[in-house]
Amino acid sequence: MKQWTPSGWRNFPIQQQPTYPDQNTLKLVEQNLAQMPPLVFAGEVRQLRQHFADVTAGKAFLLQGGDCAESFAEFNATNIRDTFKVMLQMAVVLTFAAACPVVKVGRLAGQFAKPRSADNEVINGVELPSYRGDIINCIDFTAEARTPDPQRLVRAYNQSAATLNLLRAFAQGGLADLHQVHRWNLGFLANSGQGERYQHLADRIDEALAFMAACGITANNTSSIRETDFYTSHEALLLNYEEALTRQDSLTGDWYDCSAHMLWIGDRTRQVDGAHVEFLRGVHNPIGIKAGPTTNTDDLMTLLDRLNPTNEPGRINVIVRMGAGLVEKNLPRLIQAVKREGKQVLWSCDPMHGNTIKAGTGYKTRAFDDILAEVKHFFAAHQAEGTYAGGVHFEMTGQNVTECIGGAQAITEDRLCDRYHTHCDPRLNADQSLELAFLISETLKE
Ligand code: PEP
Ligand code: MN
Repeated sequence: MKQWTPSGWRNFPIQQQPTYPDQNTLKLVEQNLAQMPPLVFAGEVRQLRQHFADVTAGKAFLLQGGDCAESFAEFNATNIRDTFKVMLQMAVVLTFAAACPVVKVGRLAGQFAKPRSADNEVINGVELPSYRGDIINCIDFTAEARTPDPQRLVRAYNQSAATLNLLRAFAQGGLADLHQVHRWNLGFLANSGQGERYQHLADRIDEALAFMAACGITANNTSSIRETDFYTSHEALLLNYEEALTRQDSLTGDWYDCSAHMLWIGDRTRQVDGAHVEFLRGVHNPIGIKAGPTTNTDDLMTLLDRLNPTNEPGRINVIVRMGAGLVEKNLPRLIQAVKREGKQVLWSCDPMHGNTIKAGTGYKTRAFDDILAEVKHFFAAHQAEGTYAGGVHFEMTGQNVTECIGGAQAITEDRLCDRYHTHCDPRLNADQSLELAFLISETLKE
């Protein structure tokens, strides 16, 4: 195999890319971004790889979540804070149930570029390029808005830097302190069943902390109580952006994609001889591989060999997204092949992308029951094979949106229009996310 370089992907066939009319500006933007500071630091990425290795070994659990697509319009501190708080709540629920640490990874600070089912979209006889995420073009249906604009890469980088700055402040500056466990409950959750259940659990944590303090075990120097680790991730889809943020670590000489701690390859761009696999094989970040219903064992084995030739634990996360009805049929053979070949894999479950449906009212939605069913089948498949179901991957928000139907709030198709704000796929709202965490925690306890 040829020597890897950050720009080597340009010689490979590539899927799901925009066509930039202005190549000169694109080149200037890439050069400009290559001069910017990295968003994450190689040492942090190595830490996350270690955490992923712990999950792979069954010693921790992975919680990955956030928007389907971040947007320029919905960028504000409240949205970031509320997603962060709900993830902390979910993590506490899971930690309490399984008595095992939860590794928290946001689909945040860089999750902008989207794969689409068609290059163009036709509305009322007008054909325009599809919306590919705010890092590429604008969702408005006009020719100008849909034209890919290289300057958007710079704006996405700046928004990611500001988002990451706030996340670091929240994680280390006091908001994530376990003594604040009551404050993580969002106002609109307080009177819901999930909110009350959460308050109850928070009371028990308070009691445990008070008990420890009474025994003289103070948390002053216990950073695991005062602060948390929160990592970022996104789909490595727009490789012009990823290449520009790829840097050689001065300590080890290894290359890291410093746009996020973890990157994943989408189900539509995981071709073994394609540009995305070529790019990701050379960076040392933990890598996710989405495995959809068409993933066969040969493809998966070849991908594992290509992306992790030395079979190191912590490098690969296979994110299964089959759809509730297909997990039982398709997942066992993937698990068996991985077991047979002795491959080191962190298995997680994305119960969102195989369960998207169109409501009678025209909205893209997902049913809470399908999401839960996929998670349960995922856990059952691992239990049957004696392997470890290591984590979950959700599209979710801390906002009180109405995008997925069902859950304890019993959101109906008719109510989807109330607060349907997503720029791409439907997300679990805060209540539904917390409910899922409680339901999964029961499975973990079994
Ligand atoms: C996504 O995670 O937003 C996504 C597009 O997933 P997939 O590649 O699994 O369809
Ligand atoms: Mn999505």
